[in-house]
Order: sequence, then structure tokens, then C-alpha cells
Amino acid sequence: MDCCSCFGFLRKVKKEPDVDDHYYGKHMSQEYLLNYASDRSSLKRWMQNDVPTNGIQPRLRGSKSMPAGFDGIYCRETPVKETYTVVRSEDSNGNKMINEYVRECKIGTGSYGKVVLHRSTKDGKRYAIKAFHKSRLSKLRVAPSETAMTDVLREVSIMKKLDHPNIVNLVEVIDDPDTDNFYMVMEYVEGRWICEGSGPPGGIGEATARRYFRDVVAGLTYLHSHSIIHGDIKPENLLVDSNGRVKIGDFSVSRSFEDNNDELRRSPGTPVFTAPECCLGLTYHGKAADVWALGVTLYCMVLGRYPFIGETLQDTYDKIVNDELSIPEDMDPELKNLLEGLLCKDPNKRMTLDIVAKHPWVVKGYGPIQNDLWRCEHGSFVHTLEECVEVGDSSSSEDLCKSA
Ligand code: ADP
Ligand code: MG
Repeated sequence: MDCCSCFGFLRKVKKEPDVDDHYYGKHMSQEYLLNYASDRSSLKRWMQNDVPTNGIQPRLRGSKSMPAGFDGIYCRETPVKETYTVVRSEDSNGNKMINEYVRECKIGTGSYGKVVLHRSTKDGKRYAIKAFHKSRLSKLRVAPSETAMTDVLREVSIMKKLDHPNIVNLVEVIDDPDTDNFYMVMEYVEGRWICEGSGPPGGIGEATARRYFRDVVAGLTYLHSHSIIHGDIKPENLLVDSNGRVKIGDFSVSRSFEDNNDELRRSPGTPVFTAPECCLGLTYHGKAADVWALGVTLYCMVLGRYPFIGETLQDTYDKIVNDELSIPEDMDPELKNLLEGLLCKDPNKRMTLDIVAKHPWVVKGYGPIQNDLWRCEHGSFVHTLEECVEVGDSSSSEDLCKSA
């Protein structure tokens, strides 16, 4: 079962196996190998002179870039809502409700909880709600001093910081101290990207792969520039919205780091997406490991199969560490070069995201991926103030500045 068509039908196992299992080659299921995950602020702040403006104000309409000195770290447009009461009820059709959210159907099963589609009676929009039982998670030890609840709280604290068009948005956290339930209310992204077919050329086609890949690179670059390692990049965690835009989801094993030190000890990611240096059980750099997983993801997208997979976990790790990357001879040389750069066994020689953003295969038909993205006064993500005026409503840049 080495095709990608199984994404979405397999679930993560509930408990992390012993480290010993990893190294002594006990038989692990394919399921484990594939699925276990071992304020409108910027511009406003800038306009309010919280950050250097170099005296530039409304004249910026024609500007091609944001001001020098702007560090790009901005708050969310809307902070994540925190709700401390849960009211469970039913609507007039007998559908279960959690506060203002009416249950529609289950859309996913996570390792710690289920994900259910709801519709809000307040704004009529659909939301994906990830639900957990606090008592169960608090008893589930995942590390000597951590429980599964620690993981969930970490996931929430990381998602609270994020605001990017290629990242799933966390909208609300519902945690009633008098009940056992804990809910993460997220924007609903209707499609999961599932590769179809198996073996070359059974992937999703180069053109779609390029579009999806560019979105993932943009989202991942944003995460890394905010000192966050995703830790589990794989197709199952990449959701596609109705406009065909990919959003990175599932921050359940993500880590944030400080002082530019992304060194981690143990990879909690999914085996077939694990970088060679993580298979060796050494400390590793989270950014480079994310780039490897990005490479495995691109390989799956274009070839419809995994680059390295064995019968057991040890076998899979052996292949990741020792086997040469197999690439069909007729592959576009630029794509081959990109895959080889991403799936370079030596993390120090592996391609970095800034190089990826300008790579010939990636830029073809689109140009370099622009990462200097900002949320403008109109609430849209833009690369320049000029775009903000163009994509926003009919108000002029003068309005924009007056309101700031
Ligand atoms: P886990 O950490 O347990 O893998 P995920 O966050 O990946 O949990 O959620 C499990 C599944 O639920 C996903 O693979 C996806 O199918 C679905 N899902 C999660 N979040 C969303 C969302 N915001 N919109 C739509 N589906 C989602
Ligand atoms: Mg997941």
C-alpha cells in the first residue's frame, strides 16, 4: 500500500509506541508508518508609528514594498475568542448544538479527538470543531512530564498566534471548567487534498502540484519566520479550500522555539515523512526536518507514491537513511532538481525555503513566492499597500490612512 490514495482512510494510532520499538524493528502497521504523528494590526501599528515608517504615509499608494524595518510580526486580525461556558442544546430540527454551533456531521478523527462540522447560528458560516475530553487526555501520558492535554494546549497556544491565508485559522476555544469538554473552533476548509491513483504518472499532475506546493511553501515560510516548526507536514494535514488554496492544518505536534534555535530531540512526525537525521535518533533541526517532509509531500503529489517505505518502521527508517532517491528518468529536470534538493539526506545541504521560493520549477508561470504578506486595513492579505487599495472596497488610500 504505497500509493497516496489511502490518505484519509487511515487514522493515527492512539498512543505513541516505545522508542525501543522504533529501533528494534518490531512490526508496526502500515497505518502507523503512514499516519502516526510519532488586529488589522500590522498596517495599523505601522500607521500608528509603532514601527518605523520612514515618514511614509498616504503616498504609499504607489509603493512596491512595506517599509524597511518592519519586522513582519503582527498580531491576528481578530484574536481567538475564549469562551468559558458550554451550553448543550438542540435546534428545532433536533440537531445537537454546542453554544451557537449546530452539528452537521463528523468530518475527521484525530488522534485525541474527533472533528465535527458545525454551522453557526450567529453568522451562518460553517466551522470545523475539534472536540476533546479533558479527563481522558490528562491521563494519557505522552512524555515523562507531559500528557496529551499538554499537547492540545500547546496546539492552541501556537494556533492563537497564527494569521496567514495558507494556515487554518483557529476562531474560538471553548473550555468550560464545569464540564469535561474542550473545543477548538476552526474555519472549515472543505476539501482534503487526496492524491489519486498510484505510481507515475498517477499523482495530481504537475500544474496542480505546483499550485498546491507554492501555497504550502508560503505557509511553512510564515511558520518558520515566526519560530514555529510544524512537525507533521503531509497531505492529510493540508486542506484545500473552495478557491483551490491550500491551508496547513494540524498543529498537534508543532513546537515554537526561541533565539533562532530550532534544535529538537525526538521527531513526533509521521514515519514515512520523517527526515533521515530524525530516524537516527539524534537531535535535529526542526526547519530542515519540515523541509524534508515538504519534499516527501511534493514527491507524493507528482508521483502518487512515497519515496521511502518498508514493511516495518525500522525498514522504513533504513530506507530513508540509506536508499537512493528513485526518480523516473523522464521527469522534468527542474522538478528532479527540486526533489533532490528537498530530499537531500544531509540536512546541512538540504534546500532551504528561501531557495525553494525562487526555484525555476516553483516560479514557472507565477514568479517567485512572495512572503512579505500583510493584512491590510480592509482585512485582506496583500503584498503591497497598492494591492490593498486595489483589492479592498471602494475606499481610497486616504480613507485607509484616516481610519488608522
Ligand atoms: P490530528 O492531529 O488528530 O491528525 P487534525 O487536526 O489533522 O487532527 O484533524 C483530523 C482530520 O479532521 C483532518 O485530517 C481533516 O480531515 C479534518 N479537519 C481538521 N481540521 C479541519 C478543518 N479546519 N476543516 C476541515 N476539516 C478539518
Ligand atoms: Mg492530522
